Amino acid sequence: MNPFWKKTVAVLAAAGFALAGCGAADQPAASEQTPKPGDKLKVVATFYPMYEFAQKVAGDYADVTALVPPGVEPHDWEPTPKDIQTIADADVFIYNGGGLEGWVEDALNSTKNEKLKVVETTHGISLMEGSAEEEDEAHGDGHEHGHEHGLDPHVWLDPVLAQQQVQQIEAALVEADPDHREAYEKNAAAYIKELEELDQAFQKMVSSAKRKEFVVQHAAFGYLARQYGLTQVPISGLSPEEDPSPAQLIEIVKFAKEHNVNTIFFETLVSPKVAETVAKEIGAKTAVLNPLEGLTDEERAQNLDYIGVMQKNLQALQAALNE
Ligand SMILES: [Zn+2]
Repeated sequence: MNPFWKKTVAVLAAAGFALAGCGAADQPAASEQTPKPGDKLKVVATFYPMYEFAQKVAGDYADVTALVPPGVEPHDWEPTPKDIQTIADADVFIYNGGGLEGWVEDALNSTKNEKLKVVETTHGISLMEGSAEEEDEAHGDGHEHGHEHGLDPHVWLDPVLAQQQVQQIEAALVEADPDHREAYEKNAAAYIKELEELDQAFQKMVSSAKRKEFVVQHAAFGYLARQYGLTQVPISGLSPEEDPSPAQLIEIVKFAKEHNVNTIFFETLVSPKVAETVAKEIGAKTAVLNPLEGLTDEERAQNLDYIGVMQKNLQALQAALNE
């Protein structure tokens, strides 16, 4: 339990609100944020996968809002005063954690909403250190990169760990709105079943793949790679804004040539320029591997969701690993 979470739990417990939420009629109407009877639970999630997981569990019993707008890359996003107000008005706040949403602690401190149920969906999951392993492989041992690696927040891209994130959300909604426990449990179970099927499809795909290495734009696929015994070679670090140095680029080109990598993956919300440079250098093609940090308008128009995008990722990886 990180100190912030501990503090939040302590505050909630001290205030006697651990089980407060929608329809808690016996609570004093001390603030205008107390939900009126019949109001839906107000859930605020940070960026796309958290929003979708929350929606799947909530079904019809909560209004779920995403803070990071569609098509916006979440690594550098910061909340506006209006976003802070949205959090202040909510019953449940859901975020990924692991350093992706670095603004969360400040934002929660300034909302002064003591009833807010805060859910860090990676709580209890042991997070990987940056991408040091992959980078060492690509850049040579003992090479100093001159920067510290943070924790890798990209947990949602592993269909197995994503199930734990869904369970965290389920537990929080049940606690905040016990009247609809049955619905939340049923919704979560149905969605977890879809994630299990996705996991099985990845296992099957990787078991017959010719190659285990893939080159991506930023180090978003570390958990996915670990789950299925693959090796991710990132051009950038944990955030897509980190530009690779010329020396790193040379190492990546060398790695790609040595491992017969014929596809360089880029992503939808970031400029593909660096990926295209690397691809051109080794005569490879580029393709999309989507880290699901947000959906583009096009993806939304196609009604793509987490499962749909992950199935496209599976197909893209399958093609690249078998060239
Ligand atoms: Zn990322």
